[in-house]
Amino acid sequence: MKKLLSVVVSCYNEEAAIPYFYDEIVKTAKEMKEVNFEFIFVNDGSKDKTLEILKSLANKDKRVKFVSFSRNFGKEAAMMAGLEYSKGDYVTLMDADLQDPPALLPEMYNYIVNEGYDCVGTRRVTRKGEPPIRSFFARMFYKIINKISKVEMVDGARDYRLMTRQMVDAILSLKEYNRYSKGLFSFVGFNTKWLEYENVERVAGETKWSFWKLLIYAIEGITAFSTVPLMISVVIGLLFCLISFIMIVVIIVKTLVFGDPTSGWPSLACIIFLVSGVQLFSIGVLGQYLAKTYLETKKRPVYIIKETEKDLD
Ligand code: UDP
Ligand code: MG
Repeated sequence: MKKLLSVVVSCYNEEAAIPYFYDEIVKTAKEMKEVNFEFIFVNDGSKDKTLEILKSLANKDKRVKFVSFSRNFGKEAAMMAGLEYSKGDYVTLMDADLQDPPALLPEMYNYIVNEGYDCVGTRRVTRKGEPPIRSFFARMFYKIINKISKVEMVDGARDYRLMTRQMVDAILSLKEYNRYSKGLFSFVGFNTKWLEYENVERVAGETKWSFWKLLIYAIEGITAFSTVPLMISVVIGLLFCLISFIMIVVIIVKTLVFGDPTSGWPSLACIIFLVSGVQLFSIGVLGQYLAKTYLETKKRPVYIIKETEKDLD
């Protein structure tokens, strides 16, 4: 029996890119005669013609399936829906904009089938076509998160990867609401082979990531995979206690020796500012974790499906 390979593609306003993507993936599928393919497109609440395009593809190609959300739930949700919907013995996650070249797929497949890897991930070694300031913050993020989290996150790793069914099931067994895939992939373990390639710019349409979205995504990654920020206030608090203890001694001795009762209020004002700043910051950090806990306890679904290709007649 031929094995089945599921290609999961998350699409948000990708009407311009999907036709190119479909051509490419069909070409790759033709080359890989040893497996059957299914193409699962997840329409993440697009506001353009993405859904219409997917419907017409599904009508003419039986390998094309789609899952369409009731609104935009974000890429994490789209990837999870695709993984849950997939039936393949192997599953790959791809972007619709051809930044994840389907041409790498035969090589990835080879590593899994012939060399015994459970997963082949891709990482880009260049960040060509990206604003330098963004690259700088991205590098910083990976440095920080790898210091404060037990789970290893690879710099430049993309979501583009091919996995065995066993690994996909492991990922789906993680039921958390705040999903941070880069962390989940490495949390489940398994043998991962990394392929490196040069960054490719998107074929059509626009990126959905603004600087702020990326920053918030980074904070999410940190709070989802590390509790070290909670330690910050403990450490700073201890440090401040120590400093103030020394200061008390110094001031008492100074007053006893020189008798200087009124001076010193500017320094006092500074200290109050500093300490209350640190307190607010610590409460903020605490609040981040509380907010996550709050969302987890609600047990809301990660996504809601409105229709799939099974609803076509
Ligand atoms: N995407 C999605 N939901 C969103 C935002 C993006 O499914 O809310 C998809 C998008 O259609 C694309 C992939 O995620 O296939 C990556 O998005 P994009 O190319 O905008 O990100 P970049 O490659 O610039 O990081
Ligand atoms: Mg892209």
